[in-house]
Amino acid sequence: MISCDDNGKIDILGLLPEELEEQILLLGEKKFRAKQIFEWLHVKRVPDFDKMTNLSVQLRNLLKEKFCVKSLFIVKRLESNTDNTVKYLYRLPDGNHVETVIMEYSYGNTVCVSTQVGCKMGCRFCASTIAGYKRDLASSEILSQIYTAERDSGRKISGVVLMGIGEPLDNYDNVINFLKLLSHEKGMNMSLRHVSLSTCGIVPRIYELAELKLGLTLSISLHASNNRARSEIMPVNNRYDINELLTACRYYFKVTGRRISFEYALIDGHNDSRGDAQELAALLKDFVCHVNIIPVNKIKERDYRSDRKAAARFQKYLEQLGINATVRRTLGADIDAACGQLRREYEI
Ligand code: SAH
Repeated sequence: MISCDDNGKIDILGLLPEELEEQILLLGEKKFRAKQIFEWLHVKRVPDFDKMTNLSVQLRNLLKEKFCVKSLFIVKRLESNTDNTVKYLYRLPDGNHVETVIMEYSYGNTVCVSTQVGCKMGCRFCASTIAGYKRDLASSEILSQIYTAERDSGRKISGVVLMGIGEPLDNYDNVINFLKLLSHEKGMNMSLRHVSLSTCGIVPRIYELAELKLGLTLSISLHASNNRARSEIMPVNNRYDINELLTACRYYFKVTGRRISFEYALIDGHNDSRGDAQELAALLKDFVCHVNIIPVNKIKERDYRSDRKAAARFQKYLEQLGINATVRRTLGADIDAACGQLRREYEI
C-alpha cells in the first residue's frame, strides 16, 4: 500500500482537477492524463497507481515517484446489532487514528467524518477533546474516510456530516478544499445540500463560510441558553459568547437562506429545566431554525448524564413555546457510536 509519509511527495487525492492538471503538465504529459487520473481516484476510487491501466507503465512509475495517496487502514469495524450503524477506527499514514461512522436513515446512508486528530476546543462532555489536539486532517484524509467506508461496506453514501472528531472551522482551509472535492462534478459530485457542518461556534469563520454560499446546513453546538451555563461546559464561549454567535448565525441565514440547526446536548440538572427551555425559546424566537436535542452521551471520564425521557420532556417544553425541535435518534448505541470514545480506548 502506498503511504504518504514519504517526504516530498505530493498528496494527489487532495488536488482539485485544475491543480492536478498543472502538475501533470509539469511532468511533460498531456492534459487529458490529468482527467484520467482524477477519474481513477475520485470516480473509480482506485488508490493504487499500478491499477490505472489506461496509463503507460512509464507514467505510472513517474506518478509513484512524485505523488502519494493517503490511504487509511481499517483497524476496527464495529457493526451495530440494533440498527445498521457501522463505526470505523482508521489508522492514518503517520500512525494517528480517527473515527468514521455510517448511519442509515430512510433517505439513505450518511457518513460522519472526523476533521482533526483530537480537538483543542475542550468541551467538557466530549471524549474527542480530552487528550487534546494532535493535528489537522488533510482534505484527502477527510475524503478518504468516505471512500474507504463506501468501498468496505458496499453501501452507497448520499450524505455527509462533519460531526466526528475535531472542530471543522478550526481546520478551515482543508475542510473547504474537502467540500470542493466532494462536490466536484468530475468527482463524487455530492450536492452540498446533503452536507451538514457542525461547529462549537468559531464566529469569524461562520462569516467567511456564509460568503462562500455553499448550500450546506450549518449546525451550531449551542448546548445552553445563557453564557454562564455555556461557558461552564464550552470554553469557546469565553472567546465568542452566545450573543456574538447568534449574530453570526443570523448573518449566515440572511446570506445563504439556509435554516440553522441548533444542537442541544441535554445534561441532567444543568440545562434541562422548563426555565432553560423558556430562555432558549426567547433566544431563538426570531430564527428560522430547528433544535436537535441529544440526551448527553455518557463518557467514562465525566459524570454528565441524561435520558430519552428528559429529552422528550424538553422537546415538549420547546414546542409549547413555538420552537421546532426533535430528539436525535440514537444510532449505534451498542457500539459507542458517539465520537472520540473508540480512538481514546485505542491510543491511550
Ligand atoms: N466540533 C464540532 C463537531 C464535533 S462534535 C462541534 O462542536 O459541533 C458533534 C456534536 O456532538 C456536537 O454538537 C458536540 O457538542 C456533540 N457531542 C460531543 N460529545 C457529546 C456527548 N458526550 N453527548 C452528546 N453530544 C456530544
